This record gives sequence, C-alpha cells and structure tokens, in this order.
Amino acid sequence: MAEDSVLGMSVSALQMMLRKRSVSSVELTEAFIGRIAAANESLNAVVTVCAEQALEQAQEADAALGRGEYRSLTGMPILHKDIFCTRGVRTTCGSKMLEDFVPAYDATVVTKMKAEGAIMLGKCNMDEFAMGSSNETSYFGTVKNPWNLDCVPGGSSGGSAAAIAAGMAPLVTGTDTGGSIRQPASLCGLTGLKPTYGRVSRLGIIAFASSLDQAGPMAHTAEDCAIALTAMSGIDPGDSTSADIPVSDFHGALDTQIDGLRIGLPREYFNDSLDNAVRERVMAALAELEKAGAVLVDIDLPHSHYAIATYYVIAPAEASANLARYDGVRFGYRCEAPQDLEDLYRRSRSEGFGEEVQRRILVGTYALSAGFYDAYFNKAQQVRRIITEDFHHAFEQVDIIAGPSAPGVAFPFGTKQTDPVAMYMEDIYTLAVNLAGLPGLSAPAGFIDGMPIGIQLIGKPFDEQTILNTAHRLQTDTDFHMARPTLQGLAS
Ligand code: GLN
Repeated sequence: MAEDSVLGMSVSALQMMLRKRSVSSVELTEAFIGRIAAANESLNAVVTVCAEQALEQAQEADAALGRGEYRSLTGMPILHKDIFCTRGVRTTCGSKMLEDFVPAYDATVVTKMKAEGAIMLGKCNMDEFAMGSSNETSYFGTVKNPWNLDCVPGGSSGGSAAAIAAGMAPLVTGTDTGGSIRQPASLCGLTGLKPTYGRVSRLGIIAFASSLDQAGPMAHTAEDCAIALTAMSGIDPGDSTSADIPVSDFHGALDTQIDGLRIGLPREYFNDSLDNAVRERVMAALAELEKAGAVLVDIDLPHSHYAIATYYVIAPAEASANLARYDGVRFGYRCEAPQDLEDLYRRSRSEGFGEEVQRRILVGTYALSAGFYDAYFNKAQQVRRIITEDFHHAFEQVDIIAGPSAPGVAFPFGTKQTDPVAMYMEDIYTLAVNLAGLPGLSAPAGFIDGMPIGIQLIGKPFDEQTILNTAHRLQTDTDFHMARPTLQGLAS
C-alpha cells in the first residue's frame, strides 16, 4: 500500500479496506499521523497529537478485526475538535484560559465513538470557546485553509475542517452553535452535518450557548456523515436536553431516490443580497437535484432577517452565564500574585480570555442585566419563537429547505477581523437553523475562482435522513466532493 493513497479517502472506502484487511488500522494511523507531522506546521489545524495512545488503540483494533469483530468505526482514525473533553488529554477550547486543562472524563460523543472502535489521533484547533467564523480568535494561532494558505478555513470548527481537507484524518468532529460545522465545511470543500438539537449529547462539550450548541461530523461525503451520526447519537442520562428518540442506521437507510422530493427555496435567501457566483453554484446543484426528480418550490421565511440580531443577543447571554465558571479559582488560568479576590477574578478573566470572548461576555451580561432583560433577552426569545414558526409553516409545504451555506468563499486573513458585524454576517444563512433547533447540512457545490463553496440543506426536526439522502444523491451525480487541495507550499 502506498501510504499517501489513503489520505484523501472516505470513511466508507477505508472501512471496506479495513474489513477486507487490505490495510491495517496501524498502517492507517501511521499514515495520518505522518500527514499531521508533515502538514501541521503550515496549517496549524491540530493542537494536540496522541500518537502513542492512537497506535495502541490501532493495535487492539487490528486484533479485533482479525477476529472478525467490527463495529462501524473499528480501526478508523479520527480527530476531535478541542471543545470535547478527553480523559487524560489536554482540552483547551482554543483558549489560554484552558491551556493546561486535562479533563477527568470523556465527552459522551468521545465515549460513543470510542465504543464504535474509532482511534483518536488528537485534537483540532478552533476559535476560542467556539466564538468566531474564521479561526482567527484561537489562542493557539490562526488555522490556514488548505485550498489557499492565505485564506481562513472558516470557524469555529476551522481546525477540524482544515485537518480533513488536508488529509490528516478521514473524519472529524465539530460543534455548531450558529454555523460552525456548516460554514467551515463550505469553505473547505467538505460535507458537514449539524444534527437536530438534542440528537447528540452535549455532556462533556465545553458549553458556549447551551440552547444552540450541537455536535456533528465533518467528512468528505454525506455517506460518511451518516456513518458518524449513528455512532455519535442517542439519549444520554447525563444531558437532560438529549432527546429520547431511537437512533436509526442512517447509513443503512441511505437512499438516492429523491423523486418527488419537495425542496423549498426561501425568497429571503435568494434575494438581491446573495452573491451572484454563489447563487450560480447553488442553483446548479439544485438543477442536478431537479434532474433526479426533486421539485423546487419558492417559500417564505419572513422573519429570517432578524436571525443575526436574535442570535447575537441569545448566544452571548448564554455564553456570559456559561463562562462565569472560569473565575481563576476552581479550574483554568489563574493570574499571578492576586492582591485580593476581586483582583483574582478580574485579572484571571482579563488575561485568560481573548478579545472576542470578552466582547461576548460584556454583550451577554448587558442583555441579561436587570434594566435590559425584557428589552433584549426576552424580546430575542420571542423573535426566536417566530423564526422557528416560520420554518414549521414552510415544512407544511416542503420536505427540505435549501440555500447557500455561507455568503461567499474563504476570505483572506484579517479582512473581517476588525469589523465584528462583518464577521457575524458570515453566518447569515446558518444561524436561524440553530435558533429553530433543526438539522442542517453543507455539501460541496463547486468552486468559485478555485475555492470551494457549499449548498445548505435544512431538514425537519429529527429528519437528518432526508437531508443525508439528498446530499448523497447529489454526490452520486456530481464529483465536487472528490476534489482535494494540492496543498501548495507544504513540505509533504
Ligand atoms: N460564528 C458564530 C459565532 O461566532 C457561530 C459559532 C459557532 O457555531 N460555534 O458565534
């Protein structure tokens, strides 16, 4: 086996090779670790590598495969976003605050994927506390987009996205509070799925905005996301918001038959502010689905223009409450030689948190403060409800909703960082899906000037299957998901 040949392969292809024993888990693990070693200096996608532990697990997986015992991910190397707690392995959340934090337990997602036989190669860089759309807020430095090293990979799961696009792993985990799986998937040419709120346990995922956070997979194909979704999902007694809904075999149930599928196109997404090149790529992907028998229907989501304002009250409000625990006392960064308790709190938080995190805490604290709670937080909750109802009305007419994943392709470093509102606009097409708790997927829809762009598919609550099927059909008829970056300027 030529080691390099496995690097861009899909999980389903590698699964078959592992089961036929034409490759061993140790060989795969060595190949991906080698890739990380060669490419990470340029990309900065991975913050912690667990080579020794991974190789031990790979040996055990090979023994299991030898006995004919295999589960969905037996022997499959994966990377986790550094927001998932990993027992005994440093978990930073992209922050100085947690630079030395070593959790005592695994997140449920980590436990479940391990139980399915996955091999954890390490942890991926990310925007600090998952706040950002470009991976420029990480304490551990920016992550580069493998398609163009001068551009951002998207965020906040930008390390995860860059890692998979660069062939450092066939499967990665991410989290999506307002778009952090779908937007980097779009910017790096991947398939990324944000499941329905409650589908995947949040236990052990460092909290950003608890009513919006949801973990999901990023991979080369919808088929791979289907395999991973089954492995990650399920009710968890440790997370009271995890849903008691049976986990189906999303991969086994994949169906490319989409004849008569009604796809809603929100007028508010395809209006004059949509970039023309993005519109063209998204419409071309939709034309493929139409050829396959889907029916395109114009719909309205009349309150979608309130999504950004609503999200940027609710998410910071929840973040300000969640991040109150980092006080320099119990865990996390503590300032040097505090004068008194007040000084300890103030300096530990000022020195431990970056600028964007501090901005969110201030906005959130303000929105929750006694005089403004009704005007901001309560009002935002009311608008959230209306946005959710818009989707429910639309789903009376259509089976899924489609639109762009992001307003454009990956942008050069520094172009949006000085203007928080320009950065917040990156999630204009994704945020409402989190506010409504729906499943959303981004799949490759082609290229603009050599840079990948995605199409977003939004499903009814707990109907991940239909958006996976639709993306799978698109990937049966097109080959955008097969393209890999040439990785200019890399040593490998
Ligand atoms: N970009 C959005 C934010 O900064 C969403 C981030 C996310 O989904 N984690 O809040």
